[in-house]
Amino acid sequence: ESIPVITIDGPGGAGKGTVSRILADQLGWHLLDSGAIYRVLALAALHHDFAPDDEESLVALASNLDVKFEVENEKSLTHIILEGEDVTMSIRTEAVGNMASKIAALPRVREALLRRQRAFRELPGLIADGRDMGTVVFPNAAAKVFLTATAEERADRRHKQLLEKGFTAKIDQLIAEIKERDERDMNRSVAPLKAAEDSLYVDSTDLSIDEVVDQILQFAHGKL
Ligand code: C5P
Repeated sequence: ESIPVITIDGPGGAGKGTVSRILADQLGWHLLDSGAIYRVLALAALHHDFAPDDEESLVALASNLDVKFEVENEKSLTHIILEGEDVTMSIRTEAVGNMASKIAALPRVREALLRRQRAFRELPGLIADGRDMGTVVFPNAAAKVFLTATAEERADRRHKQLLEKGFTAKIDQLIAEIKERDERDMNRSVAPLKAAEDSLYVDSTDLSIDEVVDQILQFAHGKL
């Protein structure tokens, strides 16, 4: 494939989403938020009352998932539509994130979502945000990035986000949840969260968003 891809993998809360959106905007490229696909599947599974280990039902659901990503105008928000319903906000809850992380451990579910993810690779290029973008989904990507931050910093950012939205949360509990999710994502047998061999490793703990974006652009320019 000659359509360029930049993959941004890493744990939740490291800033992948924000950084990926800025990169896609600046380059005028498409954006794949692969976590959103796992979240939509998780939400649909919760609606159907499927158990997180019911692989058979989940594979069938994944294969037939009626999900659309509608980009409003060039910039701004992508609306996520599941069976005609706007689920952009409702897939962002902790409950859905936890279910997503559980069903993402099932090999055949991941397999069933591969083609859907690869279909995002369109001209002029793609920013692919996730856990296994550089290792599994786009192994021949032009430039691969592993973006991380300490669990404490990620919990802190999450805490601020929640407060801004008017929610309350205990920081200790957030740290525990983040570590639990990391553990599950890093230790599953298929497509575990890990840096691709040829990736740029960026620790965003003490970096601003602009600094992260600059590092990635510099790295990518050398590769494209
Ligand atoms: O990134 P986000 O928090 O939206 O992802 C939700 C969950 O989906 C993650 O905890 C992870 O288990 C799973 N996921 C995955 N592979 C991806 C993206 C997300 O396994 N490429």
